[in-house]
Amino acid sequence: MSATTFNPVSAPDYLPKEKLRELQTERMANILRRAYEKVPFYKESFDSMGVTPESFKNLEDIAKFPFTIKTNLRDTYPFGLFASPLSEVVRLHASSGTTGKPIVVAYTKEDLDVWQNAMVRSLISCGCSKHDLIQIAYGYGLFTGGLGAHAGAEGLGATVIPASGGNTERQIMLLKDFGVTGIACTPSYFVHMIEEAGKMGIDMRQLPLRVGIFGAEPWTPEMRHYVEEAAGIKAFDIYGLSEITGPGVAVECECQQGMHVFEDLFYPEIVDPDTLQPVPDGVEGELVITTLMKMAMPMIRYRTRDLTSIMTEKCSCGRTIRRISKISHRSDDMFIIRGVNVFPSQIETAILSEGKQLLQYQIVLTRTKSLDNMEVHIELTPEMFSDKVSEIEAITKRFSKAIEKIINIRAAVKMLPPNSIPRSTGKAKRVIDKRND
Ligand code: ADP
Ligand code: ZN
Repeated sequence: MSATTFNPVSAPDYLPKEKLRELQTERMANILRRAYEKVPFYKESFDSMGVTPESFKNLEDIAKFPFTIKTNLRDTYPFGLFASPLSEVVRLHASSGTTGKPIVVAYTKEDLDVWQNAMVRSLISCGCSKHDLIQIAYGYGLFTGGLGAHAGAEGLGATVIPASGGNTERQIMLLKDFGVTGIACTPSYFVHMIEEAGKMGIDMRQLPLRVGIFGAEPWTPEMRHYVEEAAGIKAFDIYGLSEITGPGVAVECECQQGMHVFEDLFYPEIVDPDTLQPVPDGVEGELVITTLMKMAMPMIRYRTRDLTSIMTEKCSCGRTIRRISKISHRSDDMFIIRGVNVFPSQIETAILSEGKQLLQYQIVLTRTKSLDNMEVHIELTPEMFSDKVSEIEAITKRFSKAIEKIINIRAAVKMLPPNSIPRSTGKAKRVIDKRND
């Protein structure tokens, strides 16, 4: 560890392996006990598997314990999984949940401190310090992004600009006038900002902005390349989910090769999503996390649905906490087109490779007689737009070929005029699923 990387707040990132293991074992034992004693749901699920907190002696024993899934949170809506009385709960958040009730998560004062600690360490990992001006353009509210990033930036001692999402022209004015050096938002919203700045005659590369902390949705390496070039910044990937705490579960470091998981707080496992058996390091599977310090709402072996792999090689940044590879998709994101498994991220890669810039796109799924069909809608830029049918046809063909090259089947592509796909200030809606309409 070099003197420049040492920071007392980030110290757990550099713990010797054995020390980290000791800490994880002790915290795991505590949290299993807390869950079992305070939450009837966990008592029942542990009992049904024939395990008690005493069954846990070393870290490998965690595999004996039952998983928790999103439905368990829905079924116990709103407060059924809380391990603390409301008098101890100081904050509630809720995740959007596209269907039915949202899921609700709770924090004690201590939980908020732990979350802030994870976010401060995340920002340090992205090269931020108290000398930065950080604009938070994640939405503030029930969504964990805004307040989570806000607490981290404040804890770091940076100058925080709580812009929240939306009002893009004003966001750009603030970036410019305040000399903002770091921005936290969804990657898709940042792409929109680049686009709007262009319309305002502002070249993002000329601004002091140097760091982007982007997460809450998947984004491809091609997209990173695009935003880094177009805005003259270094773009870091940050991962989190409400069920576990919010943003700050894992984050990239200066090496930008996978995200370090704050393992002293969130214990990761990777399992095969079908067999639920652990997979070897390096093999992709579903990320399962146990919260080691969450008092108000412990999550035991929570199945995130996010697909990734554990990277065990030593990172050259010096951190000893393990990394997970970039999360390119969720296990429930996948759709099957003519027998081929397709992920939205593959379409994004194809569009970026052909368009050389991130054109706005949407994937529209329909179903005829139990067969899934996919149509990719891609928006033309004003420069590409033409009245000539033959020109549009040629562009359509090029994109269709680029997609075919990646997914191995011909895709129906439709080019749309500029500004016809709605922009999001939060998570982008890339897939319009009409299969059950
Ligand atoms: P909601 O269910 O409302 O979307 P969250 O904001 O908690 O609630 O969303 C968490 C999910 O967002 C994760 O499970 C993951 O699928 C996705 N996500 C968050 N950060 C990233 C990231 N950096 N890369 C890919 N996906 C991410
Ligand atoms: Zn690293």
